[in-house]
Amino acid sequence: MSFKDLKLNRPILRAVAEAGYDNPTLVQEKTIPLVLNKKDVIVSAQTGTGKTAAFALPILQLLFDRQDASKKGKTIKALIVSPTRELAIQIEENFTTYSTYTNLRTTVVYGGTSIEPQKDTLKKGVDILIATPGRLLDLHKQDIVNLDYVETLVLDEADLMLDMGFIDDVKKIERLCTREKQVLLFSATIPYKVEQLAQTILNTPERVQVATNSSTSKNVNQLLYYVPKKNKIELCLHLLRNTIKGNIIIFRRTKFGVEKLEKTLLNNNYKADSIHGDKSQTARQDALTKFKKGTINILIATDVAARGIDIDSLDAVVNFDLPSIPETYVHRIGRTARAGKNGIAYSFCSADEKNYIQTIQQLIQLQLDIIDEHPYPLDPKAKPIVHKSKKTGSKHKKGRKSEASKKKKKRWY
Ligand code: AMP
Repeated sequence: MSFKDLKLNRPILRAVAEAGYDNPTLVQEKTIPLVLNKKDVIVSAQTGTGKTAAFALPILQLLFDRQDASKKGKTIKALIVSPTRELAIQIEENFTTYSTYTNLRTTVVYGGTSIEPQKDTLKKGVDILIATPGRLLDLHKQDIVNLDYVETLVLDEADLMLDMGFIDDVKKIERLCTREKQVLLFSATIPYKVEQLAQTILNTPERVQVATNSSTSKNVNQLLYYVPKKNKIELCLHLLRNTIKGNIIIFRRTKFGVEKLEKTLLNNNYKADSIHGDKSQTARQDALTKFKKGTINILIATDVAARGIDIDSLDAVVNFDLPSIPETYVHRIGRTARAGKNGIAYSFCSADEKNYIQTIQQLIQLQLDIIDEHPYPLDPKAKPIVHKSKKTGSKHKKGRKSEASKKKKKRWY
């Protein structure tokens, strides 16, 4: 199938061709006609499948005929809600690319940065708004954003949105838009919570599923290193010196771990930077830009900070800490070997993480390749180290809430 078959008009086709897209991806093929038919749709697709264009292109097409309203007369007709700032910025970049040859105006608003310039842009009038939930509600409260004319509402990465505690904000945003709007829900996974949300806000939705949650790219070589916890940094340095080359993302579970590893790598003269939830928006964006431009080649990240970020030409993913949720492993390694390229995923497993490996392998239906030949092997009989926590349960486990409700709580990611 070609983009022409999807009944997109010439200005959009031209921008798509200039972006270097030859043919639509599967999720685009399935989703675009449904959106153009004004259906509500639940799409289960991960980053890397081309899901952004799957909603952006038909939205632009639907709005194209009304693109010439004078700037002041412009109203927000499409609203895209994204859980993270980085993802919101990326979606806006895509819209801007695809709308190059139209008069449609797009902007993005997110927290953690000055609100005034965002107000100025909004006052000038936009057709398409991309926003994180907290800042959007802030701007609405201040009467800067009017959602009365929203015709299409997109909830991107809905599962992450709920994991981050945005459920009430999302419901509120939905209620602030008109009743008749079209709702598109995109989610990497569709757990019960997402299904419940979909039932309350979507109207007889169509469903598109392009890959199961457990699918991992065939082009990713998945290697497993058993290593004592205390030797993980040495193993990482050893592999960076001898084995791992190119653009690398290293995942750690906590922001503390991210910072510690970053210091070590910088002390060893590696070009590294990091992103995690405690860094300012500017610092996070700065790190990403440096990574994309090649000023640095190692990015250290927590899962939440890195979710949804699209980075071309990633050569390797290092799971310095294994994720406790097996789907997170799939998300992480899905960042390498995009678009038919090859990639390698290195996973470090200490004694206390052995259970995680089992659940990951069950999910992906694949055994990782165990690499024994390295200087820091784990004693096969090593007992897991049990950390005694002072309290049962963590007061931080709920994750990030909206900007408005954050109240300076310390977060671990
Ligand atoms: P996404 O899943 O939206 O994050 O997209 C992943 C990457 O695929 C982005 O870099 C897009 O620019 C790219 N992309 C999207 N659609 C296509 C297409 N039809 N052909 C080639 N690349 C695409």
